[in-house]
Amino acid sequence: MHITLKILTSFALTSMVTYSSAATASDPVADATTALNNEIMASSTAYENLRELTSMGHRLSGTANAERAVQWAKTKLEAYGFDNVTLQPVEVPHWERGHHESGYVVSNNQTTNLKLAALGNSSGTSGITAGVIEVKSLSEVTRLGEAVRGKIIFYNRPMDPTLASTFEAYGRAVDQRSSGPRVASGLGAVAVLVRSMTTLDNNDEPHTGMTNFGSSPRIPSAALSTRSANDLSAILRDDPTAQLHLELSANVLAPVISYNVYAEYLGASLPHDYVVVGGHLDSWDLGQGAHDDGAGVVQAIEVVRALKALNLRPKRTVRVVLFMSEENGAAGAREYAKQAGLKNEKHVAALESDEGGFAPIGFSGMFGGMRSRLDLWKTYLEPVGPMTLRDGEGGTDVDPLASLGAICYGLNPDSTHYFDYHHAANDRFEAVNKTDLHRGAAAMAIMTYLFANEY
Ligand SMILES: [Zn+2]
Repeated sequence: MHITLKILTSFALTSMVTYSSAATASDPVADATTALNNEIMASSTAYENLRELTSMGHRLSGTANAERAVQWAKTKLEAYGFDNVTLQPVEVPHWERGHHESGYVVSNNQTTNLKLAALGNSSGTSGITAGVIEVKSLSEVTRLGEAVRGKIIFYNRPMDPTLASTFEAYGRAVDQRSSGPRVASGLGAVAVLVRSMTTLDNNDEPHTGMTNFGSSPRIPSAALSTRSANDLSAILRDDPTAQLHLELSANVLAPVISYNVYAEYLGASLPHDYVVVGGHLDSWDLGQGAHDDGAGVVQAIEVVRALKALNLRPKRTVRVVLFMSEENGAAGAREYAKQAGLKNEKHVAALESDEGGFAPIGFSGMFGGMRSRLDLWKTYLEPVGPMTLRDGEGGTDVDPLASLGAICYGLNPDSTHYFDYHHAANDRFEAVNKTDLHRGAAAMAIMTYLFANEY
């Protein structure tokens, strides 16, 4: 009995000593960043906010749904008690797909239906029938010259499956969608079809996205599911004279006034220094914009919610910015940066999350010159997991703030499955994992705190 007690006592003493020595060595910054991680992983409201935001359907800029999202965001930021909830007006394009889109190809009296979706800014057609030329690049179309006139151009270069970063694969393929219709239209093509930007190479979901006609006439332009692209390619190989019929109800409407939505957690000693954390409120219209970019929206809100819940007021003001119309030309990002410049607001850093709600693996951004600091900051991210901090672009919505001197950077989640969902009908709430989403928010909260208080 006595011996047992003695052992217990000495054990208790040992653990106390261990505990107290750890406490003595503790770093208040590590305490704060660990607390942020723990608050978010245990009590985040991001996932439930994503459920709410996505329940209203898509949020294509210019549409009534996008305005519902603006009102949702304003109400949400006010309910959390954030400071200075603001709607910042911005003129955005208004394009709608309408309710009818179909296509089929006829060869040797056989009809093959195609799964397709109009690209953003495409014109509509009540019915167009023409021969098809398959190409792999824009330069190939330019070389074809006059042969393009009267034809449907079919861009069919897949995303490179060998690249570990699917964003890099996307970057190397997406000119077909963003500029392919403009180039084909300039040479007299009557329509354009583009192989969907997805790493799934035999899949039924068309993936839409913006196309920009520049000064070329708008022509009907649509993304084909990769399975339909494979089917069409096989048909054209057997029968280059096959005729394709396309119907799209897409419509370009007059621009409308919409809003960026932002709110603040006022800084304790430098309230006029801003540290931005954001995502974009709009989405494409085929799904619910859950990964793109509902995830970024609710993560950015969560950063400020957690700081406030912990009463962890940094010296600089943290501003959560929900940008409008990233998908259709980034008018919201330009307007935000323009107004910040006009008001002479000092933006120290700006973070966006717009690569999906997957497990975070790091951040990339315009970190030049702060390498040694980043090595320290990496240790503060350890509660979330191993993170890479690499140089690169920040992202479409924050990068305009670089001209104001901000360090612009973005969350990098694991990109493996992002393009399974990107701009497609399956980008729905169910596609986002709660733990992954919250880990991303925790990493963002830690970086935001470090820039707001320790930079
Ligand atoms: Zn996005």
